[in-house]
Amino acid sequence: MRRKLAAGNWKMNGMKASLAEIEALAKAHPDPACDLLICPPATLIAAAAEICQGTGVKIGGQTCHDRLAGAHTGDISATMLKDAGASAVILGHSERREDHEESSEDVRMLAKTAQSAGLMTVVCVGESLFQRQSTNTLDIIGAQLSLSIPDSSTGENLIVAYEPIWAIGSGLTPTKDEIGEVHDFMRARLEHRFGYGVGKSVRLLYGGSVKGSNAEEIFSISNVDGALVGGASLTAEDFGPIVSAL
Ligand code: PGA
Repeated sequence: MRRKLAAGNWKMNGMKASLAEIEALAKAHPDPACDLLICPPATLIAAAAEICQGTGVKIGGQTCHDRLAGAHTGDISATMLKDAGASAVILGHSERREDHEESSEDVRMLAKTAQSAGLMTVVCVGESLFQRQSTNTLDIIGAQLSLSIPDSSTGENLIVAYEPIWAIGSGLTPTKDEIGEVHDFMRARLEHRFGYGVGKSVRLLYGGSVKGSNAEEIFSISNVDGALVGGASLTAEDFGPIVSAL
């Protein structure tokens, strides 16, 4: 049985004062029925992890380097994230793929390193609007899945987030059928590659304009095990209803 997960991606948002939102979230959900993960900017990880000690909220990073240490100015390694108190890391978000030209092969290297450091990896895939309109979305997702996910993946160290690029921060969401089609496809691909047991145990999140008002409907779709939430994860007030819908 896959445990549901509500994950928040704060992106490049959040100052020290925002830690109060994480504290409020932990207080509001002392014994959550699902896993809770907040991925604040790197500057807040250590303080957030300290606040969340002994609560149901886990803390994650938003990316990491493919090396564990060395001469890489400005970068953060998976072991550093772990040392700061993170237990997970988002990898291959479309904003990283675009802003930093991360390819799926790059993402696989990052995920392999992060998994070796003991982090849960949340690997993101998703098509652009142009790709959805001009090609077969499932071909795009299939290629991203094959190339971005390392062989070392298991249900304990891999979560896949399907985030159509055109749905991120836009207020647009795919239909239930469109989400269901991609999630069923991803489940089948994971079962085919890793075997039924492992493939069945990997959690699949949907991301892209998830909010309190559409969460319940999205969570009712087969093979949707939770959400990766951007804008609506920034305050406990907005994130709370999504958590409660799981
Ligand atoms: P959004 O972002 O919820 O603001 O659309 C989701 C994401 O990019 O992870």
